[in-house]
Amino acid sequence: NNEEAAAKAAAVNFDSEAPTIFDKIINKEIPASIVYEDEKVLAFRDINPQAPVHVLVIPKLRDGLTELGKADSRHAEILGQLLYAAKTVAEKEGIVDGFRVVINNGPGACQSVYHLHLHVLGGRQMSWPPV
Ligand code: 5GP
Repeated sequence: NNEEAAAKAAAVNFDSEAPTIFDKIINKEIPASIVYEDEKVLAFRDINPQAPVHVLVIPKLRDGLTELGKADSRHAEILGQLLYAAKTVAEKEGIVDGFRVVINNGPGACQSVYHLHLHVLGGRQMSWPPV
């Protein structure tokens, strides 16, 4: 439930220098189902999907972007690349007529992995507001 999720997220170590599980995916130390990849961006299926299509889009180089709230002007280009990659993923997955892009930022939004990622969700009717 939501309280459990919030407690779990609050317990996460968000030391900006600490590596995350996504480093292991980037370095191919653990497997992931990769949907899209370019020089700067990697997109792979979420291990715990919340919709028929649930893909995470991440920068290969975290460069201080543990969360969107840590972004500064040097990150503007990669932020645009991530959003554009989200659109490419939606096209590739055939959900371009109905998809959602989500960024959970910080404990109050149940962020659990401190390496910026966009969730691309679709393949079902998405309700609003999100809970
Ligand atoms: P957050 O809660 O930080 O917004 O999202 C982190 C996401 O990463 C979650 O949806 C979670 O299911 C996903 N995730 C965590 N560990 C792994 C993993 O090892 N592999 C994959 N593919 N997804 C993961």
